[in-house]
Amino acid sequence: MACELDNDIEFKRSGGIMVAESDAQMRFLERKAALERSLGIDTQIVGRGDIERKLPAISDAVIGGAWCSEEGKINPLLATPALVRAAKQAGARFFTGDGVHKVEHTNGKWLVTTSSGCCYRANKVVNAAGAWAGRSANWPGCTYPFMRPLCR
Ligand SMILES: Cc1cc2nc3c(=O)[nH]c(=O)nc-3n(C[C@H](O)[C@H](O)[C@H](O)COP(=O)(O)OP(=O)(O)OC[C@H]3O[C@@H](n4cnc5c(N)ncnc54)[C@H](O)[C@@H]3O)c2cc1C
Repeated sequence: MACELDNDIEFKRSGGIMVAESDAQMRFLERKAALERSLGIDTQIVGRGDIERKLPAISDAVIGGAWCSEEGKINPLLATPALVRAAKQAGARFFTGDGVHKVEHTNGKWLVTTSSGCCYRANKVVNAAGAWAGRSANWPGCTYPFMRPLCR
């Protein structure tokens, strides 16, 4: 994707570890790793010893984690405007400074109402609300398979 944008976004693939401090968090990481592997992503469960070898200063509270060799970083200050430019070129329109308040399915169409009272009709709606996507999924007619958040 980086090569489709009109400027360098400082993409660097370095691998990454998500750590767990409790058995419940380890169970979550095991489910997450299994899901990611089923989608072709190289995520492996690692023990504390493996993590210590890569990161000697890791907190004593960490009991294990999930290592993903494919994880990396971009520079969001470069990537976000580049993505916006590419989306606009592809015909996307942006309505900023307003929040989606309600999404309903009526008469075969989606009706999206925002906090400022604007209404939009659409054939399809993509829930791209990130960490808030689960809350948005409570709108009538919307279902969203959501992994339970980390719990101690
Ligand atoms: C500190 C930190 C460091 C990270 N580092 C990395 C990293 O190095 N590499 C990596 O790959 N990932 C990293 N991530 C994860 C990465 O940021 C997320 O995976 C990515 O931003 C998710 O993108 P998204 O578009 O799904 O959601 P988001 O980027 O969270 O975008 C969701 C958007 O929806 C908006 N929104 C929510 N509710 C509504 C509503 N009702 N109406 C309108 N808008 C709404 C929010 O304001 C937000 O702008 C990091 C995350 C954090 C917090």
